[in-house]
Amino acid sequence: REPIHVVGGGLAGSEAAWQLAGGGHAVILHEMRPERRTDAHRTDGLAELVCSNSFRSDDANGNAVGLLHQEMRSLGSLILACADRHQVPAGGALAVDRDGFSRAVTKALEDHPLVTIARGEVEGLPPEEWGPCIVATGPLTAPALAEAIRGLTGAESLAFFDAIAPIVHRDSIDMGKAWFQSRYDKAGPGGSGADYINCPLDREQYDAFVAALVAGEKTRFKEWEASTPYFDGCLPIEVMAERGPETLRHGPMKPVGLTNPHDPTVKACAIVQLRQDNALGTLYNMVGFQTKLTYGEQTRIFRTIPGLENAEFARLGGLHRNTYLDSPRLLDAGLRLKARPSLRFAGQITGCEGYVESAAVGLMAGRYALAEARGQALDPLPQTTALGALLAHITGGHIAVEDEGTPRSFQPMNVNFGLFPPLERAPRNETGRRLRGPEKAALKKRALTDRAREDLAAWMAAQGVLPAAAE
Ligand code: FAD
Repeated sequence: REPIHVVGGGLAGSEAAWQLAGGGHAVILHEMRPERRTDAHRTDGLAELVCSNSFRSDDANGNAVGLLHQEMRSLGSLILACADRHQVPAGGALAVDRDGFSRAVTKALEDHPLVTIARGEVEGLPPEEWGPCIVATGPLTAPALAEAIRGLTGAESLAFFDAIAPIVHRDSIDMGKAWFQSRYDKAGPGGSGADYINCPLDREQYDAFVAALVAGEKTRFKEWEASTPYFDGCLPIEVMAERGPETLRHGPMKPVGLTNPHDPTVKACAIVQLRQDNALGTLYNMVGFQTKLTYGEQTRIFRTIPGLENAEFARLGGLHRNTYLDSPRLLDAGLRLKARPSLRFAGQITGCEGYVESAAVGLMAGRYALAEARGQALDPLPQTTALGALLAHITGGHIAVEDEGTPRSFQPMNVNFGLFPPLERAPRNETGRRLRGPEKAALKKRALTDRAREDLAAWMAAQGVLPAAAE
């Protein structure tokens, strides 16, 4: 059988190659380093971690990324196996010795008899004669290939983004202070006229909020990022605040067309709006709140907004150069480019966010390619699993409301419980009494993770999927 080409030896490409080889299929893994470097990578190693050394929480019962670790381990992930072997103490997090980790991934692939590592840049689209191919070239895809993908998918498809806005778990918003209403009760397509969550600020709260934004600590940028211009209409909120104290209340925080049902006589000085972010209605993004404040400052300052005092953030805002596909529009459920199905995409370029998520999408791209090469088709993963929830986010399963006629934009996201379908029944403890606060949250997470484990096991059994090492 012809080898399958994987372009990019990062987190996703290395995992995809391992899954293919583990299933008995020959792979050619193309990595451009050291011949050509990116702005962030420093070594020649495969699966280099470009920034932090953390794979985040390893708690498979209480955290969505910990559950994702566990699911990847059960499918024989190389990235997780090497991370486990090169773990360094980090509390409940899975942190690694980055060099030891990258060396272990490189060695495992170099030593595998079915893997050939081809060092060199793939300049442009992989040639048709390669046949099925996985592109996993990451957020810093080399320009010639990035241009070629843009040509194939349309100018708007390969998005550059600057600032992103935070996303909040709906059930952490205090609806005793906030309320549902669209501006002027306008109902967009499929909307009810009460599509937004609104949080009101009085004059004193607004002035303090603006002052905190201006004084707040901002992320510092590497030189190569500093030259990236802001997109028009997507200025970071603190940059707007610096233009004058009234700017925000005439911009994203304007208080017009909204009436606070908790106290209709009081006119708010400014209002923060949150828009539904997923079909399940479990996540809401802060409209116009793209920011380059540090994570700590975002949490501190945004929790001063009435209604968001206890906000849990599914994703915080950020500003960095990034290249990713408009995947819900461009990719099919098996991560293939609809315009050229022999090309399958994996990793951060598909619009997931983070090391673990990138490797997870690489794992599934490898599994899909392997099944296809065997003439099989895998059923979609249940959305109740961490892997399935992540893939549904990328391939469009979660695309929800259109925003007053404007197509919703697809933004990268870490895996989180807001991407999972809600539980059918609220969890109860042994006493059967109504639960509140942290006890309720912990039981809910436990029920979600138990359901995920059961559903993944059932899916693996039904599809005949074994861990990579066992194949
Ligand atoms: P990569 O790991 O970047 O792998 C892509 C590979 O493809 C690279 O090795 C590259 O050299 C190669 N390549 C590119 N173009 C070509 C080509 N044409 N031909 C051949 N090879 C090519 N996530 C976190 O979880 N924590 C962090 O701290 C973090 N920090 C980040 C910092 C920066 C500056 C950036 C850009 C991203 C960061 N991310 C972080 C996000 C993301 O998790 C990482 O970028 C992750 O490495 C993505 O994995 P990947 O496999 O998709 O891409």
